[in-house]
Amino acid sequence: MSLLPNVDVRTRTTSGTDNLSAIRRRIVLSAPKVDRALPWTNHESPWAILVSEVMLQQTQVVRVLEPWRKFLESFPTPEACANASQADIIRHWAGLGYHRRARSLHGAAIMICSDFGGKVPTSPDLLRRLPGVGEYTANAVASFAFGEPVAVLDTNVGRVLSRALANRPLQRREAQDLAQQLLPKAKSVIFNQAMLDLGAQYCRAVPKCEECPIAALCRWRQEGGVDPSKKSAGVSRPQSPFEGSRRQARGRIIRALGIETLSLSQARAVVGEKLGDQTLDVLSDLRSDGLIEERNGRWSLLA
Ligand code: SF4
Repeated sequence: MSLLPNVDVRTRTTSGTDNLSAIRRRIVLSAPKVDRALPWTNHESPWAILVSEVMLQQTQVVRVLEPWRKFLESFPTPEACANASQADIIRHWAGLGYHRRARSLHGAAIMICSDFGGKVPTSPDLLRRLPGVGEYTANAVASFAFGEPVAVLDTNVGRVLSRALANRPLQRREAQDLAQQLLPKAKSVIFNQAMLDLGAQYCRAVPKCEECPIAALCRWRQEGGVDPSKKSAGVSRPQSPFEGSRRQARGRIIRALGIETLSLSQARAVVGEKLGDQTLDVLSDLRSDGLIEERNGRWSLLA
């Protein structure tokens, strides 16, 4: 029986074949073609996989590759990360932005050492106890590091599901259930990776349907209509421009504080003329996030 009575995933085609099974099979077969050969794929260290997944939460793959490699050089184990100062972890987050993730990862490393004997926990439920680890990251680590049969649902997978399977926008929970229903019992790791790769390489915001290996089975391609992924939960919307944004100001201040402490006027100079009058607000936000502190009129990374 379908787990999803409200989602018509067209389980039977006119030729009588099971469409869900056919798509599942086609995705597994297309794994070598769509493979992006990322360095954390099949990595032997669960910690390296956890670090990659946290970095990938809000940053594109291409911007994660080098910081991930350098971070693991400095902090190859949860213990090495836990023993470092938060300020040092944040310095190693250079170029990735969204520095709250660095703070969370540091907290996760400390918890792994204190509560899990220094080993990354294996199940999604235990992984979700770690700071900064939500459903996606927990499932991704459980699958890619430990082979747990749990479906991974990110923005790329969400597009594939809403377009190829449902041809309608999906709520977050039904997308997760549909992903789980589609997941094969065997080869679940290969399947999860192939879904991520398929969404990232072909089923992009502007899809490359002509080259897509599952085009012949895709509902949206066959039936047409408005792109259903645009209103699907979990599918990210384009970010506002970085140039001139508060994110840019935050990044500049964090980068400068990685080298030396700053007075307010120095911080204003670092932020630049365009956002200079927001400097104190940005500093206050960073302090509220537990990333920086102010003592005697000078700002520094929180140790
Ligand atoms: S055919 Fe196009 S819309 Fe369908 S899954 Fe492939 S890339 Fe996505």
